[in-house]
Amino acid sequence: MIDILLRAASAIQQAINIVFHFLTVDYFRQIALLSASASPTMKRIIVLGGSYAGISTAHRILKQAAKIGPLKITLVSPNTDFYWSMASPRGVVPGQIADEKLFQPIAAGFSKYPAAQFEFTLAKAEKLDVEAKSVGISSGETLDYDYLIVATGSRTRAHTPFKALGSTEETRDALHDFQSEVKEAKTIVVAGAGVTGVEAAGELAYEYGREKKIILVGLNDPMTHSLMIRRVKCCFSMHPVNPSQIASGPTILEESPASVSNYALKALKNLKVTVKLDTKVMSSAQLPAGQKELTLSNGDTLTTDMYIPTFGLIPNSSYIPAPYLNTNGSVMVDEYLRVKGAKDVWAIGDVSDVESWQFITCDRQSAHLARNMISMMNNRPPLPYKVAASRMISVFIIRDGVLTDLVAGFMGLQIGKKAATGHFGSWRLPSFIVARARRTLFVENMGPTVDGSLF
Ligand SMILES: Cc1cc2nc3c(=O)[nH]c(=O)nc-3n(C[C@H](O)[C@H](O)[C@H](O)COP(=O)(O)OP(=O)(O)OC[C@H]3O[C@@H](n4cnc5c(N)ncnc54)[C@H](O)[C@@H]3O)c2cc1C
Repeated sequence: MIDILLRAASAIQQAINIVFHFLTVDYFRQIALLSASASPTMKRIIVLGGSYAGISTAHRILKQAAKIGPLKITLVSPNTDFYWSMASPRGVVPGQIADEKLFQPIAAGFSKYPAAQFEFTLAKAEKLDVEAKSVGISSGETLDYDYLIVATGSRTRAHTPFKALGSTEETRDALHDFQSEVKEAKTIVVAGAGVTGVEAAGELAYEYGREKKIILVGLNDPMTHSLMIRRVKCCFSMHPVNPSQIASGPTILEESPASVSNYALKALKNLKVTVKLDTKVMSSAQLPAGQKELTLSNGDTLTTDMYIPTFGLIPNSSYIPAPYLNTNGSVMVDEYLRVKGAKDVWAIGDVSDVESWQFITCDRQSAHLARNMISMMNNRPPLPYKVAASRMISVFIIRDGVLTDLVAGFMGLQIGKKAATGHFGSWRLPSFIVARARRTLFVENMGPTVDGSLF
């Protein structure tokens, strides 16, 4: 009897073992099948560029990751730190802004995301292959992507710290060298009467207007005017710009309303800046005593201790094949910010040809692209992007007799710590409002930008 019971128990045990074996094998096989099928749906997104456009878009997508499904963002940047370059015209003046307010480590800003979702790669994109959907980077690796966001921005023509240089160390060193040179110089020539030149001259003069000679040399190029007026005419606008409103004749900030240029010119003169209009620096030669001799387009020469060229921004697009670039080297995009002719590639910020190179437009593009990518990954159609075609244009969108949207070019600039000016479309903004809004040059936004809490 006992023997029968023992045999029955053993048979039951065996049966349980067999059932368990089948169950578990099937279970593990199912897990294996599940994970095998999960990996193809995992979307690999590469973001090139760790500045305003790249960082904000990466955060905007990662924060919605739960709504999208499995994804991994790899951010490729040659800089370890975000550089708040918008404050650089004040940053070049010694003792004005501490390094910690201009530089912030990027990787730490993304530490809240799991490693499976985000990776920071310290490298530079060197070769884009849109057919193979891969990017060759400076470490020698090749990264494959499902989706690519190009946000590599622009750089200054001259080796100046108004934009990020080759690495964070290089940018920081250049900034410190600039500060030392400013401190020593008795004469400083700033060349270029665009926003950067006017802001830099204003900041230098606010601090040193009485003890150093600050000269702003700017050319009012009639070609730029005629081009701009043509652009104004060909764009749809419910608020067309009257060409007589655009600054003309020898002045500064030429793509601005005349009232803005005049205000800025007066503010610079109040700070004792000598403004030389209608001329440009043709060449600069080093003199034996350490000074520089500048030759101007009108034939004059200027001897100066320090020369600061501020004209000429170039898109960082050398790794992108020529068919995707316009004659200026900007990436050509369609109304969805997709790179024309390339599958699953988008370009935003200064590197793209979509609108004027400003933080404010770059941020709108970033928010729009992030929304579209989330829609796309949820099988919803993307929405077209509304372009503010020119800084001077305002486009009203009226549906059923109701104003539903207003897209206008906007520009604000600081002239020293107290004066400022700007415009919205062709309307000049009240100076005290711009001065109040821009008094810190927004450095307090760097932390929340890098850690994503701003979005
Ligand atoms: C002095 C100055 C002041 C300004 N002030 C204002 C302002 O007050 N308001 C405003 O609206 N706009 C302002 N702007 C314009 C604004 O700064 C730009 O529109 C903005 O920087 C664009 O951001 P971005 O991310 O597209 O490019 P960028 O800021 O140019 O950044 C591009 C990033 O990509 C990296 N990169 C470059 N090449 C590669 C590569 N091959 N691979 C990977 N990464 C790469 C760069 O190192 C950099 O970090 C100012 C510009 C300047 C120069």
